Amino acid sequence: MDSSAEFPNLRIASHPLVQHKLTMLRDRETPTKIFKELVDELAMLMAYEATADLQLEDYVVETPLERCVGKRMSGKKLTLVPILRAGLGMVEGVYRLVPGARIGHIGLYRDHDTLEPVDYYFKVPADAAERDFFVLDPMLATGGSAAAAVSSLKRAGATRIRFVCLVAAPDGVRRLAAAHPDVLIYCASLDRQLNEVGYILPGLGDAGDRLFGTR
Ligand code: URA
Repeated sequence: MDSSAEFPNLRIASHPLVQHKLTMLRDRETPTKIFKELVDELAMLMAYEATADLQLEDYVVETPLERCVGKRMSGKKLTLVPILRAGLGMVEGVYRLVPGARIGHIGLYRDHDTLEPVDYYFKVPADAAERDFFVLDPMLATGGSAAAAVSSLKRAGATRIRFVCLVAAPDGVRRLAAAHPDVLIYCASLDRQLNEVGYILPGLGDAGDRLFGTR
């Protein structure tokens, strides 16, 4: 993972597979089916990176030959929280790596005029204070939805939260980090800028539309 001098909270996945798949994702010619598969694969690769520092404990197992001391995750309760709707595309990929995780949902949409988040759905496990949360959204654009989602999780009692996206814009990272300096942000690319209607440049277009074929 690379880090950024300007954004100490940001981790950028420089793995060649991540970068290759991200470029295919950006391509406007990539059809919906392939786009969905790429988001799924990238989500799994990002989860591998975003879980790299989770704690382990010793665990004794019997191999077919003898007893040995292995490692296992030390009882962490993980929760994946996709931001609807594009975040849904990342759930299965992450879940495949951490099948013991619970899945919450946050419904936020961005008002096209104000670009501010409006929330319409929130459901996470009741024992939020004991859980590690991974908020999922392919695009960290203005950071408004991301910051609002993290605020909602904190109101529900969450204290350990990471934000996992694929493409981030400097404005979004800045806004999320300013609102929630305790949240680590994982992305595959820190892109150049936002355009006048809040899309990331060069970006990949509208992730939700490309995932679900609603363009
Ligand atoms: N949401 C998207 O889907 N794409 C962007 O570029 C910005 C926000």
